[in-house]
Amino acid sequence: MILALAGNQNSGKTTLFNQLTGSNQRVGNFPGVTVDVKEGIYRADKSIKIVDLPGIYSLSPYSSEEILTRDFLINKHPDGIINIIDGTSLERGLYLSMQLLLLNIPMVIAINMMDEVYANGIVIKTDVLSEFLKVPIIPISANKNEGTTDLMQAITGLVSNRCSPPKQDFCSGAVHRTLHATAHILEDHAQRANVPASFAAVKIIEGDEPMMKDLALGKNEKDMIEHGIVEMENELVLDRMAAIADMRYQYIEDICKKAVVRPKVDKHHAKTIKIDNILTHKILGIPIFLSIMFFIFWLTFGVIGSFLSDLLSGAIDALAIIVSKGLTSFGINPVVESLVIDGVFAGVGSVLSFVPTIIVLFFLLSLLEDSGYMARVAFIMDKLLRKIGLSGKSIVPMLIGFGCTVPAIMATRTLTSDRDKKMTVFLTPFMSCSAKLPIYAVFAMAFFTQYRALVMIAMYLIGILLAVVAALISKKFVFKGNPIPFVMELPNYRLPTVKNTMLLLWEKTKDFITRAFTIIFIASIVIWFLNKFDIRFNVVQDSQDSILAVIGSLIAPVFTPLGFGNWMASTALITGFMAKEAVVSTFAVLLSTGMENMSVPLATVFSPVSAFSFLLFTLLYTPCVAAVAAVKRELGTKSMFVVVLLQTGLAYTIALVFYQLAMFLG
Ligand code: GDP
Ligand code: MG
Repeated sequence: MILALAGNQNSGKTTLFNQLTGSNQRVGNFPGVTVDVKEGIYRADKSIKIVDLPGIYSLSPYSSEEILTRDFLINKHPDGIINIIDGTSLERGLYLSMQLLLLNIPMVIAINMMDEVYANGIVIKTDVLSEFLKVPIIPISANKNEGTTDLMQAITGLVSNRCSPPKQDFCSGAVHRTLHATAHILEDHAQRANVPASFAAVKIIEGDEPMMKDLALGKNEKDMIEHGIVEMENELVLDRMAAIADMRYQYIEDICKKAVVRPKVDKHHAKTIKIDNILTHKILGIPIFLSIMFFIFWLTFGVIGSFLSDLLSGAIDALAIIVSKGLTSFGINPVVESLVIDGVFAGVGSVLSFVPTIIVLFFLLSLLEDSGYMARVAFIMDKLLRKIGLSGKSIVPMLIGFGCTVPAIMATRTLTSDRDKKMTVFLTPFMSCSAKLPIYAVFAMAFFTQYRALVMIAMYLIGILLAVVAALISKKFVFKGNPIPFVMELPNYRLPTVKNTMLLLWEKTKDFITRAFTIIFIASIVIWFLNKFDIRFNVVQDSQDSILAVIGSLIAPVFTPLGFGNWMASTALITGFMAKEAVVSTFAVLLSTGMENMSVPLATVFSPVSAFSFLLFTLLYTPCVAAVAAVKRELGTKSMFVVVLLQTGLAYTIALVFYQLAMFLG
């Protein structure tokens, strides 16, 4: 039995999915967190499969995640639908329900966030609603796992009895007549296309292109239908879309009048408005946002994060010394000892020590998102982003990009126009992902000790600045036209739940640690090996003679004009393409040092100027393999090459200009 979870964005689908299946999918107080179809098995009955779908407002899709949901519902024919509605905005939820009811699939409506509904003093008479809509209405609180068992009982009961919602009319008058006439005309086509005729009729009247294609109507039939629709438009003095929408809202208004009692003053809502008046203020909004971001970065790099990371790297170095002593007294072969200490400990340890910094960064960012503030940021940034040719919605992938470019590129699926999506994908690599953080930190520590935090923040800012410039240029020459107007529901402010926050942190940490012990582990061993032996596989005395030095020296001249034409830097950049953390671990292995005293040997490889040039290059050059693959998935092979070449070309140019200027100015 396959059950689909369908509902508006941010209505709690993923929360419910997690409760029902025991999985830990990402939940966020932000529209567009789920952009993929996720499947899970119901905890209490393994024969039931539950599918979490991206949120939608209507079954007429615009963005690729909406198309996913629609395709799933219409073409995959789930056995049942759990339609989940945010009880605090019932009307908007019901707008979708009215379309789902036509699909002829057993369905229940779950009214979620009942805790907030109670707290606001709203009364929803579920029995009255149920009488009108003729499907079970179950109040739940997904967060607290209340009502979910009843919900599952209701839907499984309906599915076993194949009890689809009975056919009923939501309308009268002109729309009603047109609907029925249309349904009549396309009935046999609908049957062949395996969609309910009444649903097909509504979609055709709304001018839905994919449905038009699926039905394959003849010319006469099309004309006949068009005729009826024009008749209706004339009679109602509304265009077709508006007529249908109006019909739905009319019906919803009617039933809500009977089923919902609202308090005179909605305290919760009043509070939200008060907060919004400040946070989304016309003039203050952006400075507040920038201050918050600055504060977050400052805490991460300047205060807590780097302090904890220093502690951890000290501990790792100490452990390395103990292990080294143990191995020596055991009398182990010095080459093996070198493998363990100079290879694994140096490489993996250098990356691991950044776990605390990353945790702090993600903790703070997740607070912003879960509280509902991020949605406001999208709102206040919209006007500014519009100037550079993006819409407010693009801010989401960009901010996710500070964590990792891969999910950021996936998040562009929420963007409704191809133009906006492409442009956003091209710009996300400018946002420094968290894997670059160790690079900045190590170099800032080694060469700009006093201005450590400042240099790190500068790297982030330079990335953003260049993104703006790139956006302006591409707006002029490549992505002409305007971004899609911005419509986004501002979610209620919510206290982030401890569980969600912990879950997110755990996922990020796990991810980072897993990478340290897989890709970085292997890369460290390979680098160690290539650095330890010469081309005749003798252990080298001086790493200048190693295989790696030979390979690296071949590429190094390319980087000479940028100031870092040495084989170590070239090697680090190449491994950095696998994963950006590998840049740091490579240096750690090559210089065979722990994190704490990496500064000294690094200074033999770089001067402060060439170090900064190197930082600029790593900030901008090609995203890592995983991110490049994500670009390919979203936009295709050609765009993938464009991203790689553009980024690398830009990185080269900027670093070149910087280094040459700096040399020239002395
Ligand atoms: P989705 O976009 O539909 O998948 O929604 P999510 O599952 O990501 O949830 C959106 C937000 O609503 C998150 O901040 C959840 O913590 C919150 N949420 C979900 N269920 C409840 C509930 O029953 N009560 C309250 N107060 N918040 C909830
Ligand atoms: Mg979701």
